[in-house]
Amino acid sequence: MHTVAVLGATGSIGGNTLDVIARHPQRFRATVLTAHRQVEALVALCVQHRPELAVIADPALEAELARRLAAAGVRCEVASGPAALTAAAAGNLCDTVVAAIVGAAGLESTLAAARSGKRLLLANKESIVMAGSLLLQAVAAGGGTLIPVDSEHNAIFQCLPGGRPDLDRSGVRRLILTASGGPFRGRSRAELAEITPEQACKHPNWVMGRKISVDSATLMNKGLEVIEAHHLFGAPAEAIEVVVHAQSLIHSMVEYADGSVLAQLGNPDMRTAIAHALAWPQRIESGVPSLDLTACAPLQFEPPDLATFRCLALAYQALRAGGDAPAVLNAANEVAVEAFLAGVLPFLSIADVVEAVLAELPPQVVVDIPTLLARDQEARGVARRVLRDAC
Ligand code: NAD
Ligand code: MG
Repeated sequence: MHTVAVLGATGSIGGNTLDVIARHPQRFRATVLTAHRQVEALVALCVQHRPELAVIADPALEAELARRLAAAGVRCEVASGPAALTAAAAGNLCDTVVAAIVGAAGLESTLAAARSGKRLLLANKESIVMAGSLLLQAVAAGGGTLIPVDSEHNAIFQCLPGGRPDLDRSGVRRLILTASGGPFRGRSRAELAEITPEQACKHPNWVMGRKISVDSATLMNKGLEVIEAHHLFGAPAEAIEVVVHAQSLIHSMVEYADGSVLAQLGNPDMRTAIAHALAWPQRIESGVPSLDLTACAPLQFEPPDLATFRCLALAYQALRAGGDAPAVLNAANEVAVEAFLAGVLPFLSIADVVEAVLAELPPQVVVDIPTLLARDQEARGVARRVLRDAC
C-alpha cells in the first residue's frame, strides 16, 4: 500500500490523480491533500478521500478549513502555510508525493519531497525548469526516485531503455517532444493581437489549469518542457526537437542511433501518465479508454512556427545561455501570464516581457536554492517594471 500526498489536490492534475487513486483502494491511499485557497473544494475532496492531513497554503483560511471539515464530519489534521506544505511533503504520512502545484510556488515542497527520499511524481515542471540539477541532486541525495508525470516526459521515460532513466543512454540520438500547437495553431501574429484569456484557456485537446493553458497557447509550455527534458534525460538542446502533432495521440518519441524511433501513444488524458507514474514499474487501470487507431488516422505532424510563437524560441535561448537563465525565463513568464490573465497585458506581449527580462539579467551560475529564489524574486521585480512601462 502506497501512501500518497497530493500537493495541489484541487487542480487539474490533482483531480486526475485522485481519480486514479480511487480506482485502486487496495494499492493507494491519499493521506495528504493540499490546496492554495479553495477551501470548499478541498473539504469535498477530504470527505471523499479521508486523508490524515489537509493543508491550505493560505494561513488566513486555516480556521475556516478546520471548521468546515469538522462540520462535514471529517477528522483529520489541519495545517497551513508554506512551511506546513514542505513538512507534509517530507513527513512520514506519505511515501509518494505527487507534485501538482502550479508555478514556482511548488519548488520548496518538491525539493522537500526529493530530499526526504520520496517517490516523487513530478507534474510541477516549473520546479525542474528553475532548479534543474539542484532538484536532481536532492533526489539522488534523498535516495528516492523521480517519475515524470508531464505527458511528454512520461512518454520519453517509457520509451527509454527498459523504461528507466538511469540506464545507459549512449544509443539515444534525439528526443522528439510532440506539441499540440495549442488553440492558436496556424494563426498569424496579426490574428493573435486581440486574444482574450478565455480564448487562450480553451485548449483543443486537454482540460488544464489556466496558467498551463496560456503556456500551451504561447508554446512557452513546450519551451519549459524542452528545459525539463534536458534535465530529466541529460540531453543537450541540439538533441531535443519539437514537432507539432495537433491530435495529441503520440505523446513524445525517442530516436536511437540505429534510426529506430519509439513512440508512446494514447488518448489525450493525463490519467495514463499519472497511473503509469503511480504504479511504475507495474501497470494499472487508469480509466482511459482504448485508442481507436483507425478512427484517428492519418497522424499529422508539422514544424513549430517559432516566429509567431516566440516563447518557444526564448526557452531554447535560455537553455543554451545556461546558468539561472531558465529560472529567470520562468519567473518572467509567470508574471507576464498573470498579467495577461488579469486582462492588463496583450497576448503577444507575454514574449516581449520574457525577452526584456532575459536581456536585463544575464545568466549567473546556479549556486544554491536561496540564491536561486533571490534571483526568481529579482526577475519578478524586473518583469513588473517592464510591465508597468509597457501598459
Ligand atoms: P491547476 O491550476 O489546475 O492546479 C494547481 C493546484 O496548485 C491547485 O490545487 C492550487 O490550489 C494549487 N496552488 C496554486 N498556487 C499555489 C500556491 N501558491 N501555493 C500552494 N498551492 C498552490 O494546475 P494544473 O493544470 O493541475 O497544473 C499543475 C502543474 O502540473 C503545473 O506545473 C503544470 O504545468 C503541470 N502539468 C499540468 C498538466 C495538466 O494537464 N493540467 C499536464 C502536465 C503538467
Ligand atoms: Mg506536457
